[in-house]
Amino acid sequence: MPRPAWLAEPGKHQYESWSVPREYISEAYDDAVRLAISDQEEAGLDIVTDGEQRRRHYIWGFLEGLTGIDTTNLGKKQTRGGRYRKDPIDVPRIVSQVTRPHPVLVHGLRFTKAHTRKPVKVTLPGPMTIVDSVLDEYYGENKRTLARRFAEILNAEARDLAAAGADVIQFDEPCFNIYLEDVAEWGIAMLERCVEGVNTTTAVHICYGYGIPVTLAWKLRNRDWGQYRVLLPLLAGTRIDQVSVECAASGVDVAVISALKGKDVLLGVIDVGTDEVETPALVASRLRRALPYVRPEHLFPCTDCGMVPRPRAVARGKMRALVQGAAIVRKEM
Ligand code: ZN
Repeated sequence: MPRPAWLAEPGKHQYESWSVPREYISEAYDDAVRLAISDQEEAGLDIVTDGEQRRRHYIWGFLEGLTGIDTTNLGKKQTRGGRYRKDPIDVPRIVSQVTRPHPVLVHGLRFTKAHTRKPVKVTLPGPMTIVDSVLDEYYGENKRTLARRFAEILNAEARDLAAAGADVIQFDEPCFNIYLEDVAEWGIAMLERCVEGVNTTTAVHICYGYGIPVTLAWKLRNRDWGQYRVLLPLLAGTRIDQVSVECAASGVDVAVISALKGKDVLLGVIDVGTDEVETPALVASRLRRALPYVRPEHLFPCTDCGMVPRPRAVARGKMRALVQGAAIVRKEM
């Protein structure tokens, strides 16, 4: 969810620095989380998160809790296979042994759980997406071996989060949509490694990126929307419980979700790349389109991706539309 302007400057949604002095920052995080929870509850969501208010970026926020990664003096690297932009971008560098001295998100989870009675979801970046988003200057390993290191760290974190009461743990793996061959060769195995022994509901989120100008421009140009046709059958064979897919703003044919038989489908029915708030009727129509391919008890209406680039009022409106659209379809069942 977008952050209050007093916490971080709006519009710099991806890698922002905080507007609040260091000595007050943890109190500010707590306050922002309280507001994020209250916005979600007022909208009527059934499952809530902390709105990722404590993380300046969905990958960096986790990496900053590890040793061996420099998120201040950055390196340059082309990411996402050059799909959204060809030029190298600033990325964190691996500069020494990567370890997890303490749980990274457990403290935040405890706070969230203390402030809501709803089930709570926590998100972690997936190993393939982490590897794509860092510059390795220390190990000199291939992507698969490096991904295994992160999968082991993520597994330890996920076990701690499950033990602390996380109701859903989701791995964000947008890179699954890009490196299809790597997914088959090792991506799925690393995702399975992440959830080994994790005693709670697990999910994987595979989108076509945040609703920001470079990805929106790519979506306009793109003609090949066949990625899920390759990925979803692979995921169907894993022990992941839920698969989150972008179906509102992409050109994906929703029929593809029929490959996920038995899994929960977290269906993106809210476009996160526009400030236009969907009507509940539009949300309902997007849900109805999916019903021939997924049993209703496995259908979880969802946003396409995170809403951090949107204004807060828009994000609230979109959450309300999500809830009201789902209510229309529930009534019809
Ligand atoms: Zn996403």
